[in-house]
Amino acid sequence: MRDMIKRRKTRKIEIGKIFIGGDAPVAVQSMANTKTADVAGTVAQIKRLEKAGCEIIRVAVPDMAAAKALGKIKSKINIPLVADIHFAYQLALEAVKQGVDKLRINPGNIGSQDKVERVVKACQKKKIPIRIGVNAGSLEKDILAKHKDKVTAAGMVESAMRHIRILEKLKFRDIAVSLKASDIERTVESYKLLNRKVGYPLHLGITEAGTIFRGTIMSSVGIGHLLYSGIGDTIRISLTADPVEEVKVAWEILRSLGIRKKGVTVTSCPTCGRTEIDLIRLACQVEKLVADVEKDIHVAVMGCIVNGPGEAREADLAVVGGKGVGLICKKGVILRKVEEKNILKEFMKELNNFK
Ligand code: SF4
Repeated sequence: MRDMIKRRKTRKIEIGKIFIGGDAPVAVQSMANTKTADVAGTVAQIKRLEKAGCEIIRVAVPDMAAAKALGKIKSKINIPLVADIHFAYQLALEAVKQGVDKLRINPGNIGSQDKVERVVKACQKKKIPIRIGVNAGSLEKDILAKHKDKVTAAGMVESAMRHIRILEKLKFRDIAVSLKASDIERTVESYKLLNRKVGYPLHLGITEAGTIFRGTIMSSVGIGHLLYSGIGDTIRISLTADPVEEVKVAWEILRSLGIRKKGVTVTSCPTCGRTEIDLIRLACQVEKLVADVEKDIHVAVMGCIVNGPGEAREADLAVVGGKGVGLICKKGVILRKVEEKNILKEFMKELNNFK
């Protein structure tokens, strides 16, 4: 992580074989959008997410058929599995029995004290953490009334604290918390408020952020702001899209802040009147070619040989387009000039040999 970002210390909790909080890296997570009872379909999607870099996966558990599928799903995937449950304690108990790695459930919504205790004890016994997920759209009625029927950051934090206290009273402290609103201001404000009150790891997200374009911008601004302030232990980007896109965006946010490294970072110039090559196409082609390359390097794609080599000197490798030609550069030094039709081939040769 870059020195400018001072990450706040939180309690470290274990989710299957990975940790969140403490000194653990900010983890990327997503949520499957398949029917959980469809084991084959859900596993296939989770495998695609794993390949994209998803580190924790959550699935919805709306009924007993979904809960009973959890064990089979878990046995076929390689990342921790989180069961997302609303209200029903029987589903929570079944999920624990099936061996999930974490529950997302709000203890204040489970019902009688007896039911809450049964769920919490089951989690304690198997060392399964619980995420309290407060959403702006589902605040408790009395909290809403207290805040003049307005969903405020203070109200969201009050709700989170209520759930936290229920768990703490039962001596349960393997807790993560999220506070999601669909706007940046309330989301950021509530995380900052909660951050001053408790030291549990925080799961960041902007809910209902929208389709890829808007959702990416909303999440980058909101989650990016929090991460830059040192807040956040795991992130989930909510997009109305294939969840693989959520994972890609999450990684790009983490990489852009220098918080995590993964794969090739491609930067490219914005093009201008000096551009002598179809740079938009070239940059997209390079981005596609390097998508699965696991080297942590920086590649620049520049549009003219006048400014390109100089501006790309911070890159490990650069492709600089000229009139009918391209320059292949390494750490600011021009390696060779190649014909335009050979640019990609020559670039890939250099990338594959790069150490
Ligand atoms: Fe324009 Fe060249 Fe700069 Fe690209 S690198 S924006 S083409 S001056």
